[in-house]
Amino acid sequence: MIISLEDIFSAIKSYNPDADFDQISRAYNVAQEAHKNQFRASGEPYFLHPEAVALVVASELRLDSTSVCAALLHDVVEDTDINIENIEEMFGPVMAQLVGGVTKLNKVFFSSPSAAQAASFRKMLLAMTNDVRVILIKLADRLHNIRTLCFLPPVKQKYIAKETLEIYAPLAHRLGINKIKSELEETSFKYLMPEKAKEINDYLESSGIEGDIIIKKALEEIEEHLKDFNVSASLSGRPKQAYSIYNKTIKYNSGIDTLYDFLGIRILTDSVKDCYAALGMVHKYWRPIPGRFKDYIAVPKPNMYQSLHTSVIYDGKPLEVQIRTHDMHRVAEEGIAAHWDYKERGGSGNSNAPDYKEKLSWLRNLIEWCQEVNDASELMETVKVDLFQYHVYVFTPKGEVVELPKDSTPIDFAYTIHTDVGHRCVGAKINGHIVPLEYRLRNGDIVSILTSKSQKGPSRDWLKIVGSANAKRKIRTWLKKEFRDEYILSGEREFLEAFQRLGGERETEKLFGTPSFNGRVKEFGFPSLDEVYAGIGAGEVRAQQIIGKLFPDLLLKTQQRQIEAKKNRTEKQKKRKAQKGPRIIVGGLEGALIKISRCCNPIPGDEIIGYITRGRGVTVHKKDCPNTKSLASDSENRIIDVRWDLGITDEIMGAGSYMVKIRVETTDRRGMLNSVTSVIANQGLNIISASAKTTKERTGILEFTIEVGNSEVLNELLRLILRLTGVTKAYRVDKKQ
Ligand code: MN
Repeated sequence: MIISLEDIFSAIKSYNPDADFDQISRAYNVAQEAHKNQFRASGEPYFLHPEAVALVVASELRLDSTSVCAALLHDVVEDTDINIENIEEMFGPVMAQLVGGVTKLNKVFFSSPSAAQAASFRKMLLAMTNDVRVILIKLADRLHNIRTLCFLPPVKQKYIAKETLEIYAPLAHRLGINKIKSELEETSFKYLMPEKAKEINDYLESSGIEGDIIIKKALEEIEEHLKDFNVSASLSGRPKQAYSIYNKTIKYNSGIDTLYDFLGIRILTDSVKDCYAALGMVHKYWRPIPGRFKDYIAVPKPNMYQSLHTSVIYDGKPLEVQIRTHDMHRVAEEGIAAHWDYKERGGSGNSNAPDYKEKLSWLRNLIEWCQEVNDASELMETVKVDLFQYHVYVFTPKGEVVELPKDSTPIDFAYTIHTDVGHRCVGAKINGHIVPLEYRLRNGDIVSILTSKSQKGPSRDWLKIVGSANAKRKIRTWLKKEFRDEYILSGEREFLEAFQRLGGERETEKLFGTPSFNGRVKEFGFPSLDEVYAGIGAGEVRAQQIIGKLFPDLLLKTQQRQIEAKKNRTEKQKKRKAQKGPRIIVGGLEGALIKISRCCNPIPGDEIIGYITRGRGVTVHKKDCPNTKSLASDSENRIIDVRWDLGITDEIMGAGSYMVKIRVETTDRRGMLNSVTSVIANQGLNIISASAKTTKERTGILEFTIEVGNSEVLNELLRLILRLTGVTKAYRVDKKQ
């Protein structure tokens, strides 16, 4: 077949008269020149292939002119002296991306026979593509290759046919492009299983004459009846597809002669209303087969396919009827391409709402397909098919695809291959180059793992590097075995700390490690106390979780306290807004201006005295504040009795608006800041600021500024902090020290 630029132009003109024809002829000339001395297996000039692919892109997928150009140029980077930079110079970055995308896809070959591998491979193809047009061009490319498969040697024919059936036809199906999907399937089937295909096709031929007569009769009758219903429609017999019949014989494990829906007709109407009218007519004249009616108009298939399906008994034989509108039919045939209306820049009506909406629903459905993406809305902003952002697809040296979570490393890969490969991993090569173990894998990487017999097992640091839960679990399990004693010790310590943090009783604490406690642990379904400690130490389980199971009351109380405290806090905040200033009653002075002294910072519950200042009202100090001593001796008569207004402070027991600084001294141990912070938080108190330092004597000094309501709450808090293992002192700091 000879194709000319004019053929491509006229195909485009039929749906996009505003196309950039100038650009297309430039791409045409560039590609023609680049391929000029190359020939296909058929002996024809190579350029015939890109030309044909461009024609498919235009006439069968009706894509924009950029896609048509990219189709013309799709093989130049791989096969000629032109590189991606040249393309970008000549046609701009978008074209370079499209051509680059197709070139990249050309380099991956599917070689593994398993179905799971095929699924991963399909996902990977999409993952490697950030513009769906790349896939569409690739499908057009594959379609032309399949159409000209006869020129290749049989081994290659089989390989390409298999890859097409397992990878490209399902992709076309997913994208809803049935027209291309069917042709890919039917042709590949003939090459891959010639005997089967012949058997089925022969059968269809032989029963065909009879079938054709029935179909012709049915179509005439339906046409008559539709007229009575005032429905205008175009009718056709449904093409029979050998490959789908073959699949049905496999699926139902039955012979071809027992499958009964070969006879099919299609009714295309102008409106949805007419679809249902036509359905009513069909069901009126012929008896429907129960369970065969499907309303894909009301509930479209994930790939946006819409149609009514029913089967009726016609002349004693089952007849399948598909009814849909012309628009639905276009979607059924062209799929995503029907929606992907790439209007030219500056062209008319390129952003009308329904189009955009449909585009989005395509993306949404694609997303549902991969089921991995949680928040689709963000993705909707872009017109990219970056669907598999949470996974990365890489190859083994043998070409098998491995799916891993995003941010995975060669270590994750190694553990996916085999646990022992993970344990003995000492290095990795990506695409032949040595990389560090913390290297983040990228789509399409070929990963080979270097192992060593002398490598005993994973390093603890790996836990910080790896990205997959699977690798983490395997590393932890190994470490737990190897460092069991160490983990038991650290786990026991963590357990005790958590128990104390949650305010557990000292009496109960004494029981830990006794046989009776061990028995209790087993009653709760844990293998043994040591095992529990080892698990905590290894980071498999959190101490608080175990305590929550063993002492449900303790956890419950803490949770209640936290909820209560939060409630109190919001109530208090409301109250505080209503009443300003300290709640202090000054003896004998009405409406005195009161200031809380900063030097000792008294809080409700502290014994206090007032000091009358000149022009600044009454300053309130703690009774034992050293400053008041000097003040008192200075001028006795300026000291005044003050007391807390308990009527109000009673109400605001617990946390409140008084800021207090506390200091906690600890033995120098990791995690102390965390433990003390938890105790404070568990009491429902706000921490305003916190600091930690270590003295030369290896004493840890932690300081917190917290909000409390009165001294009682503060004292309780200090008591609880003192109970923590490792805490040597806990006290209030009055002055800035
Ligand atoms: Mn090609």
